[in-house]
Amino acid sequence: MIKTFGYAAPTATAPLDAFAFERREPGPGDVHIEILYCGVCHSDLHTARNEWKNTVYPVVPGHEIVGRVVQVGSEVTAFQAGDLAGVGCMVDACGVCPDCQEGLEQYCPTFTLTYNSPDPHTGQMTYGGYSNRIVVDQRFVLRVPKTLDLAAVAPLLCAGITTYSPLRQWKVGPGHTVGVVGLGGLGHMAVQLAHAFGARVVLFTTSPGKTADARRLGADEVVISKNPEEMALHANRFDFILNTVAAPHNLDAYLQLLKRDGTMCLVGAPQEPHPPLEVFNLIFKRRRLAGSLIGGIRETQEMLDFCAEHGIVSEIELIPIQNINEAYERMLRSEVKYRFVIDMASLPEPATGFEVQWNRKDI
Ligand code: NAP
Ligand code: ZN
Repeated sequence: MIKTFGYAAPTATAPLDAFAFERREPGPGDVHIEILYCGVCHSDLHTARNEWKNTVYPVVPGHEIVGRVVQVGSEVTAFQAGDLAGVGCMVDACGVCPDCQEGLEQYCPTFTLTYNSPDPHTGQMTYGGYSNRIVVDQRFVLRVPKTLDLAAVAPLLCAGITTYSPLRQWKVGPGHTVGVVGLGGLGHMAVQLAHAFGARVVLFTTSPGKTADARRLGADEVVISKNPEEMALHANRFDFILNTVAAPHNLDAYLQLLKRDGTMCLVGAPQEPHPPLEVFNLIFKRRRLAGSLIGGIRETQEMLDFCAEHGIVSEIELIPIQNINEAYERMLRSEVKYRFVIDMASLPEPATGFEVQWNRKDI
């Protein structure tokens, strides 16, 4: 087993703290990665605080991982020691179901998430990227473009693919008017990607102070969603709306903005349900309300390559891992511009070694 150090939430209410655990020895098809950077997704916070009611403690969050390969198994062909590598939200799937066969592993009924998922290899739960190393099946390791800033690439592994996939699924492109709701980690990627796909992009935000950033990232217009009169001006206008909001809110306010046959796709996953919606807003214009979950491995690689080609990365604030609890509070206040990324160099291995209980006062 491989000694590993990280940060874990010990309970739903306690702050994240230093945690020592073990990774499996790499098997023939595994890649052993030293983690350099890990993005901080709102899903990490939902999970650390058991907001989705499925957390097994202790939980080591983190599914926006960029690192360097230190060791590969004998059957690994696509990676070798020294390569850059990325890991996103999944680390395994059955490989044979119709979803896997289509490259849509995220819909495989038995997929394994990067953290808080039963781990078929160890019989325990998976532990994520707020840690110094990870061992992952080569089928779930991504090639990271060398030309982009590595820390700013990390959030592409979740925020990037979660927005890229629905924008592609609904064929967003030139001639389309696309709304993005919320300028957080996911939203600021959606604005950049929809702009790169050639759509007219309108950002809906509750934070007037984000207007200039939104325009710089590629929004053609910015609407302050708290203002009903301003919202009403945009009725029946949108081909597609991508809703990234992490809290329950009034969906009708956005459904009314769709054209006939327009679609609003929800990717935000709040703790509590949204208020009930008005069905006539769907019926009268044959509008659709949809959802989307991250993206498959093939599409994630396509997204990374697209971002490399177009120079798209996340706007990040690099933090030491010791600041993770403060970062969660700032994320809740919509203060992150626009993704926290943990610099794993801030996670020193304890001098006393693994056998000795890791004492947080040492770090
Ligand atoms: P985030 O960085 O916190 O961004 C969420 C944004 O939503 C905020 O920046 C804010 O933007 C807006 N917002 C927050 N509270 C709001 C409220 N009460 N009313 C209206 N707007 C509000 O979070 P994230 O990391 O982008 O994640 C967003 C959501 O997507 C989370 O629920 C996360 O779990 C989920 N997620 C889903 C998937 C998937 O596969 N479907 C993948 C990853 C994440 P403004 O300040 O601009 O209003
Ligand atoms: Zn995520």
